[in-house]
Amino acid sequence: MSNWEGDKKPVYRLEYTRSSRSRCTGPRPWKGTNIEKGGLRFGSFAGNMAFPWEWRHWGCVTPHILNNLKKSFSQAEELDGFDELSEEDQERVKKAWEEGHVAPEDIPESAKKGVFKLGYALSRRSKCQVCNEYISKGLFRLGIEVDFRGDISLYWQHWGCAEDRVVEALKASYDEPAKIDDFDNLKEGEKEKVQRAWEEGKIPDDDKGPGEVAETGKEAAGDSGSFGGMGVTQPVPPTGLFTTNSSMSALSAPETNN
Ligand SMILES: [Zn+2]
Ligand SMILES: [Zn+2]
Repeated sequence: MSNWEGDKKPVYRLEYTRSSRSRCTGPRPWKGTNIEKGGLRFGSFAGNMAFPWEWRHWGCVTPHILNNLKKSFSQAEELDGFDELSEEDQERVKKAWEEGHVAPEDIPESAKKGVFKLGYALSRRSKCQVCNEYISKGLFRLGIEVDFRGDISLYWQHWGCAEDRVVEALKASYDEPAKIDDFDNLKEGEKEKVQRAWEEGKIPDDDKGPGEVAETGKEAAGDSGSFGGMGVTQPVPPTGLFTTNSSMSALSAPETNN
């Protein structure tokens, strides 16, 4: 965060939204959604003259933010605005502080549902919104439709980079995996990955990371006489490697030369 420079302590505030035009600056793809009047919101002081505060739904406070707060404050009660909250909300904040994440039921409805797309990267042009790496051609990816002032665009990420909240949103948005856009066009391996995440409510550790390029599709098998049957089997690196890679790249700064 930009306001962590020097000796200045970051300034945070909890309060009830006073206008009906407050926009959430929480994580994509829910950035920009409305914070309802009277709703509990969390602000960080951005220092920008025009928009000094960045607000988000209380439910859009990420574990990462809570973690950072704990470095500056020893308890939730020290947060600006805490005293003015209802007793119920004070408990809510204290519980999140202790557990390291907000309660699932506090995540706003607008952040719970979405329109998703499954498929394989067609080129190396899409960048993963989570780890910031390009998604190599053929890798299994998840697209999240974002409506920004009427412009619909898709945010892509490696399937294995999907955060728990995204898997939860996926589950909240469809009755079953087969209802997700393009699920039927997936190969068995990826269908199983979706099924596993669906059952666990998150990406299982073994499926985390960018994954491997999917084998040549069935539709292409008829055209290539040299590859019959099961196709060529590639040596598979240990899955632990992918977990390490993805967590490393999540920590590194995004590439600047493109
Ligand atoms: Zn939000
Ligand atoms: Zn990724």
